[in-house]
Amino acid sequence: MTTLFISDLHLEAGRPDIGEQFRAFLEGEATSAEALYILGDLFEYWVGDDDPNPHYADMKGAIRTLADTGVPVYFMHGNRDFMIGEQFAEDSGVTMLPDPEPVNLYGTNVLLSHGDALCTDDTHYQQMRAMTRNPDWQAMMRAKPLQERVAIAEQARQQSQEYNATADDEIMDVNSDAVVATLDRHDVDVLLHGHTHRPAIHEIDVGGRMASRIVLGDWYEQGSVVRWDAAGPRLESMPR
Ligand code: MN
Repeated sequence: MTTLFISDLHLEAGRPDIGEQFRAFLEGEATSAEALYILGDLFEYWVGDDDPNPHYADMKGAIRTLADTGVPVYFMHGNRDFMIGEQFAEDSGVTMLPDPEPVNLYGTNVLLSHGDALCTDDTHYQQMRAMTRNPDWQAMMRAKPLQERVAIAEQARQQSQEYNATADDEIMDVNSDAVVATLDRHDVDVLLHGHTHRPAIHEIDVGGRMASRIVLGDWYEQGSVVRWDAAGPRLESMPR
C-alpha cells in the first residue's frame, strides 16, 4: 500500500486543467492508496466555507467521493486556504491536521508541514502570517459580506504576486537554521512540506545525525506527488 502526499495545487476556476488532473488523480491511483495527505494551498484562495464558488464545490465533491470509498484524506492549511474551516471538512470528508503534524510512515518518523513557517528570512511575510492566523482577525474577516471577502482576497493575491516578483529569491525559501531546529525539536528523520514550489530532496546534517527534507512541487504545469510505501518515499511529477 502507498501513502500519497500532494500540496500547492492552487485550484481555481481560471485554471480548469489543474482541477481536471486533480479529479483524475482522485478517481485513479488515490482510490487504492492507504491515505491521501493534502499539505496546503489546495485552493488559490479561500474566503470562507460559505463561498458558493461552483469550481470549489466541484472539487470538494471529488474529494468527498474518494473519502466515501474509505480512503482517509487529511488536510493541512496552506497560506492561501488557511480560512478553510469545519464546514469544509464535514462537506469534503477530510480530517484537518495542525501544522506541523508528526506521523510514522512504515517505520520512519516524519514531520508534515505546509512549509511557510520555515521561511523565517521573509519577515514581511511572517508578520502577515501572524496577523492572518489570529482567531480574532479571522472572526473579523468571516463577519464581512462574501463579496467583500472575495475582493480582499483578490487584492491580497495581486499584492502577493507583486511582492514575490520583487523580493529576493533567497528569502522566499526556507531558512536552513529553522529546518535543522525543527528536525531536532521533533526528533524526526524526514521533514515533508510544500509551499516553496521547489521540488527536491535535501540531505540535512542535524548535529551529526542525517535527516532529509522532501519538498513537494506545485501543480501549475504538471502534478507533483510523494508516493511513500514500505520501500520509502519517491518524489515524482505527473505529466498533464
Ligand atoms: Mn503556500
